[in-house]
Amino acid sequence: MGPEHVTEAESRDFALEKGCLLCGGELQVRVGPTGAGTFCGRCHWISRPHMHRTDDGIHVVHPAGLVG
Ligand SMILES: [Zn+2]
Repeated sequence: MGPEHVTEAESRDFALEKGCLLCGGELQVRVGPTGAGTFCGRCHWISRPHMHRTDDGIHVVHPAGLVG
């Protein structure tokens, strides 16, 4: 349940392998002007995680309680 680490710092749209908290599927991540949104193509879970950009990539943080 910790932050996901992404190395593709320049990409605004990317996928997190095994990024879905519910089914472990590939999580599609889209970063827009109002924040980030994620979508799992396997179980159709949609979330709006927090994005933290650091020198070594983007961290996607799913706040506790948003699952579902
Ligand atoms: Zn899923």
